[in-house]
Amino acid sequence: MQIDVINPATKRVVETLNRSNVEEVNDAVATALQSFETWRQKTSEERGVVLHAIADGIEASATELANLIVSEQGKPLPVAMMEVGGAVAWTRYNADLSQKPEVLEDSEERRVEVHRLPLGVVASITPWNWPLMIAIWHIMPALKAGNSVVVKPSSNTPLSTIKLVDIVCEVEPGLLGFVLGGKVAGEALVTHPDVKKLVFTGSTPTGTHLASLIAKDLKKVTLELGGNDAGIVLANADIDKLASKIYMSAFINMGQTCAALKRLYVHRSKYDALCNALVDMAKAEVVGNGMEEGVTFGPVQNKNQYDLVTSMIRQARDSGSEVIAPELPEGLDGYFIAPTIIKNPPLELSVVCDEQFGPVLPVIPYDDVKEVMKDAIHKEFALGGSVWGEESDELDWVVEQLDSGTVWINNHAEVLPHIPFGGNKLSGLGVEFGVEGFLENTRRKVVSYSKK
Ligand code: NAP
Repeated sequence: MQIDVINPATKRVVETLNRSNVEEVNDAVATALQSFETWRQKTSEERGVVLHAIADGIEASATELANLIVSEQGKPLPVAMMEVGGAVAWTRYNADLSQKPEVLEDSEERRVEVHRLPLGVVASITPWNWPLMIAIWHIMPALKAGNSVVVKPSSNTPLSTIKLVDIVCEVEPGLLGFVLGGKVAGEALVTHPDVKKLVFTGSTPTGTHLASLIAKDLKKVTLELGGNDAGIVLANADIDKLASKIYMSAFINMGQTCAALKRLYVHRSKYDALCNALVDMAKAEVVGNGMEEGVTFGPVQNKNQYDLVTSMIRQARDSGSEVIAPELPEGLDGYFIAPTIIKNPPLELSVVCDEQFGPVLPVIPYDDVKEVMKDAIHKEFALGGSVWGEESDELDWVVEQLDSGTVWINNHAEVLPHIPFGGNKLSGLGVEFGVEGFLENTRRKVVSYSKK
């Protein structure tokens, strides 16, 4: 069985690749295990030097990587360049992390240290929205900690990951391998006895299924899953100052970002002003093929996502909600959906209750923030949340109420290499980024010297 990689802006096949069979998965794990045996012997500083060389390689291939991302994922070239820039930044951050033993006690009686050791071969399974960046998020902390990695990219967007594997292996052969395909390759990889950890980013059903497959072996697991992030705009919010940030938080990467703003609750006194500003920004987008100069807004990545998001928009229109979107330019033949604002949607609509993961934002007016928080806090998901407004007791109260892994104030969807990021409830397990995320790629060994 083969994989056709489709350009979502043209629906044309960019490249056809073979899915990996179980034997090829076993070979990839065996190569990674062999590489692990020498890689683990290196000091943390030596591994840091290698990661900086990999970052240099990514920088040297930035244009090629960005072109691959546009052709397989659809985002505009400047956003793809930003993704490559993020990949470099995360790689260099991990390169510089130190891995010295932590001294817990050094008294007359004893000296106790915590050592952090690598796990072995780590399996990484990635989605199609930020294919290079999310692969880097998985791979670089795992490598820095002394592990080797086998990555399984989404079948929709494998090309930039394959190029990344080339770059890494040019610096350190065998350290990073890849396998291709969904269930067969993916499940053979995560259940392989020599794989000691799974780091997965994708949908909640797939993530929980894979976690259940490896639970009996007590393998480590980090899951970054779906979300349905709410933003609350308070009555005292400065709309002129914040509207463009709110727009970007929702429509970044055509809304296909796990931690994007997906439901916006706005105090009625600011509702029309904010909706008008969001609609103006949507109208200013240049929708088209991400390779064309001047294009600011690309297609969604695949047909399933296109069908899902357009059906949610249709349902909203049928419900009598006001659906506002600019006309698409003529002559486009890809999975294009214009940035869409939905005013006054009923709260039970799918576009409000379920994750859209696409370029549509339901905007819901409210009068009483205490009441609206009952809807804003999602029963199942808790990845990110935000509150927009001036400092006040009300703002503090909303921050306290939100139960997500991250709460942003006057911002949303900002992720940084040194700040831990992860979801609560069905949005995830464990954490990525920062020292905390790095440590998820290690096992702890407590070393206790008795001095008496
Ligand atoms: P998905 O269908 O769960 O796929 C994610 C990955 O899992 C792909 O590589 C896929 O491979 C693989 N996969 C699917 N079934 C598998 C199986 N049985 N065994 C092993 N691997 C399997 O999710 P998606 O559609 O790519 O991504 C969209 C979802 O991801 C959204 O819900 C979004 O919220 C979430 N997401 C979360 C974050 C976060 O950080 N929290 C970030 C990005 C996306 P194939 O492509 O070959 O099927």
